[in-house]
Amino acid sequence: MDTTINDAKSEIYDPSRKMLDVSRIREDFPILQRQVHGKRLVYLDSAATSQKPNCVINALSFFYRTINANIHRGVHTLSEESSSAYEALREKIANFIGGVDARGIVFTRNTTESLNMVALSWGKSNIKEGDEILLTEMEHHSNLVPWILLAKETGAVLKHIPVTDNGTLDMAAFYKLLNKKTKLVSVSIVSNVLGTINPVEEIIDAAHKNGSVTVLDGAQSVPHIVTDAKTLDCDFLAFSAHKMLGPTGIGVLYGKPEILEQMEPYLGGGGMIEQVELCNATWAEIPWKFEAGTPNYADVAAFSSAIDYLERIGMGVIREHEKEITEYAVEKLLEFDDLILYGPQDPEIQAGVFTFFHNKIHPHDLSTILDRDGIAIRAGHHCAQPLMMKYKIPATARASAYIYNDKEDIDELVESLNKAKRFF
Ligand code: PLP
Repeated sequence: MDTTINDAKSEIYDPSRKMLDVSRIREDFPILQRQVHGKRLVYLDSAATSQKPNCVINALSFFYRTINANIHRGVHTLSEESSSAYEALREKIANFIGGVDARGIVFTRNTTESLNMVALSWGKSNIKEGDEILLTEMEHHSNLVPWILLAKETGAVLKHIPVTDNGTLDMAAFYKLLNKKTKLVSVSIVSNVLGTINPVEEIIDAAHKNGSVTVLDGAQSVPHIVTDAKTLDCDFLAFSAHKMLGPTGIGVLYGKPEILEQMEPYLGGGGMIEQVELCNATWAEIPWKFEAGTPNYADVAAFSSAIDYLERIGMGVIREHEKEITEYAVEKLLEFDDLILYGPQDPEIQAGVFTFFHNKIHPHDLSTILDRDGIAIRAGHHCAQPLMMKYKIPATARASAYIYNDKEDIDELVESLNKAKRFF
């Protein structure tokens, strides 16, 4: 995927070092000013959720203090302002993901709900017994379980593109698995465990030539790399606001309008109807047909500030910054002879996610020891149990970087890992 700098003009980016001025960025994040166990917080868990800049926190408070009213329901000023803020974000998101048609932007609660919506709405009307759904072995449970549920209900068959030893997709196997029975191909753009940036253009191209519908899980890509749904030509793209500086409780499902128009609603209730009689109802136009009930409009308004913040830096610049951190972190972590580092170990095809397993220290113990040094990493199966089974391990430790991390954070991680080794 094209991850080149699109907007290197940002003055907080130093092109000679290919790094952002992290000390200035950290000033915008109040949580990064706090201490944990008397140490500076080194937050390396952004793949789980990102921290929030002041502009997002303030936007939420501003919204409740000055605008708050339910949307699309009233003609009074507050309701009109609230509705405009909500609909304006739809346009902003459509531009952010490559200038797609804003009628294809549906607000959900998170990536998980977006993927479930595709499975429950598109899947139930289009998948039948014997059809094949092609996924990968590196998917998050959010891109496995909805399809397991659908397969159980319809009798469809699930197939998975294998992961090679270097943490990339086995593309030769992909071409063998793709066949006339493959009705849907659903793949994460970036793995939340391996950090692998998958060749999704190639996958979509082949899937479309085969007549298959394509779904991209963008939870780990939209926050970190230029994710252009228009150029990629995916049929669906799912992602979450909370992983990209935005508030919790907002997700996005982008779907091509012509496909969304053919789909049945996923939930019924207020806001998604055209006309209701006691025993019958007709649906609103897309995207509202998929947004039943009072949406999380206040957080949507705050999400707008997160997009502005990311755009001010530039997604291309963010990618360059994370590439530098990835190169550095991989080099440093490979120096440990008692640690297995998973993933491609190549910044060209790896986002800032570093997953490792220490041969003597359980990931949970490792995470607890690091926490005493103020370092937040994640330990567990990362909602990717099939991948853990493949590697024959119960859990791993995962450090993940974002715009507020620098090489110094990686140094602190390494120092604390060395301390943990001495401790055990
Ligand atoms: N897909 C991937 C690749 C993820 O990393 C995650 C969350 O970590 C999800 C889906 C689910 O996101 P959410 O919990 O916001 O629904």
